[in-house]
Amino acid sequence: MKLSIKLKSSLFLAVLLIGTVIVLSILVLQGIKQNQQKQTEELLARQSKLANVYVKQIYLSQTDVNPQQFFKQYGHEIARQIGIISSLHVTIFNMSGKVVGDSLPLETSRDVKDTLNYALKGKSAYQEIGETLSYFAPIYNANKQIGVVQFDYSLVSNQKFYDNTINLFIKIGLITTILSFIIGYFFFNALVTSILKLRRVTEEIKLGNYPKNSVLKRNDELGYLSQAIFYMSNQIQQNMKGIQLEKDNLQLAVEKLKILEKQQKQFIGSITHEFKTPLTVIRAYIDLLDMYSDDPKLLEEAVSNIGKESLRLYDMVEKILKLAELEKYDFEIVNEKVDVKELLEDLCLRMKGKMTKFGLSIVTNFEHASILIDKESFTLIIMNLIDNAIKYNKQDGEITVSNKIEDNHVVIIISDTGIGIPSTVLGKIFEPFFTVNKDRSRQSGGSGLGLALTKDLIEKQNGTICVDSIEGSGSKFIITFPLFI
Ligand code: ADP
Repeated sequence: MKLSIKLKSSLFLAVLLIGTVIVLSILVLQGIKQNQQKQTEELLARQSKLANVYVKQIYLSQTDVNPQQFFKQYGHEIARQIGIISSLHVTIFNMSGKVVGDSLPLETSRDVKDTLNYALKGKSAYQEIGETLSYFAPIYNANKQIGVVQFDYSLVSNQKFYDNTINLFIKIGLITTILSFIIGYFFFNALVTSILKLRRVTEEIKLGNYPKNSVLKRNDELGYLSQAIFYMSNQIQQNMKGIQLEKDNLQLAVEKLKILEKQQKQFIGSITHEFKTPLTVIRAYIDLLDMYSDDPKLLEEAVSNIGKESLRLYDMVEKILKLAELEKYDFEIVNEKVDVKELLEDLCLRMKGKMTKFGLSIVTNFEHASILIDKESFTLIIMNLIDNAIKYNKQDGEITVSNKIEDNHVVIIISDTGIGIPSTVLGKIFEPFFTVNKDRSRQSGGSGLGLALTKDLIEKQNGTICVDSIEGSGSKFIITFPLFI
């Protein structure tokens, strides 16, 4: 059977009290008994002394009398008188152990031989018979024992007192036990309720439900324990949060790594593919020239195409190396304060020849603004974007390059009136090797790496790039860099 702490504690208290009452009762009762015995003995010893004084008095008042005659004459009277004085039943024995006087007439004699014999040898002795204590003491004349006096003392009142005391102890014991059980039950009830509350809180913590404050408002050990549990649960909660955060971060990192790994695989696959195409073209021309080395038309065509393909290869290698450099190393950036207007004007001027060659016109609109940037990266970014605006433009098209200051940023816009980009692939144009039209890109020596490199470079310089395009009407690339004040 499973007993609750409440019941166990109350029972323990009750048992403890019963034990205490029993031990106390035994000790007190023993004390009472010994005390009663001592008092009785003292009383009877006193009575025997008085009896002796009385006997001696009468004996000495007689002349020439022997004990037999003395007792024969005065035995009953002496017993009666001592009986009156002591208020006890008194019997007188001579030295032969014969009754020579009795304070009560017709009193039946009991078997007291042994004790009487003892007293006849001059010593006091007593014996208990039923509810009577018979006390025997020698009696003397002037100097010699002449008999024994017996006092019968009733133990009834002593026993009654003793029994009453036992009853009192039983009653007190019972009352205290019941009371202590009830008081203990209520006292432990409050205590155990608190312990149960703490237990419930720990169960909740186990399930991940952390308390908002300490459950017990007590100023004792249980109160301290409750505070400690609350403190501990806070710590656990924080640790769990930390662990969860780390787990999430780890999960995120693993996912990023997976994406990166996938991208890398795709990137390597694309490199292999993109490198193979120009190399196949070059090899094909070499094989043809091997067979028809004297064909001037083939020779001219081979020189032109091999030149184009090798340039494409060169451009690709350069861009791949740059991309790898940006990704792997802390790319060597030499930031300096530059005036965007000056740089843009210079770059537009450098690209003017190519634009004219393709029959394109340029419109510029610059304003002075300073940014902190690596000049080489800035040049690469703008050249790539203007180059694309040329490559993907239409006959007699127009390119607009402008800049302005907006919200503490320098905004550079490069727009063209070219073929535009279909809205479905707008989100993909910054991915490495992505081209909208493979043939068109190939014709213009493109490899799909320019915008990926441009975006990486811009982001490394704390900038942003976005595109706005309408297929068939043109595209607009918007770049922003923090303004340097
Ligand atoms: P590519 O070397 O092929 O030009 P980019 O990374 O520079 O590679 O550009 C990726 C693709 O985005 C191009 O192949 C082209 O289809 C498209 N694109 C880039 N710039 C423009 C533009 N100004 N107008 C239209 N399409 C463009």
